[in-house]
Amino acid sequence: MTEMKCPQCGNKTVYDESNKWRPFCSERCRLIDLGEWIDEKHKINDPDGPDIPSNTH
Ligand SMILES: [Zn+2]
Repeated sequence: MTEMKCPQCGNKTVYDESNKWRPFCSERCRLIDLGEWIDEKHKINDPDGPDIPSNTH
């Protein structure tokens, strides 16, 4: 088992296939890193906003 620090919150997390949020510790940390957790930074009507690719699955 490989342990590492979550790059978002610094908590220990397991880096293997059992952790589907790797390298983060949780969905929340993953979403924060993608910038999707903070709605104010995810304005659709901002033409100059970052173009975040959506997961297609
Ligand atoms: Zn975390």
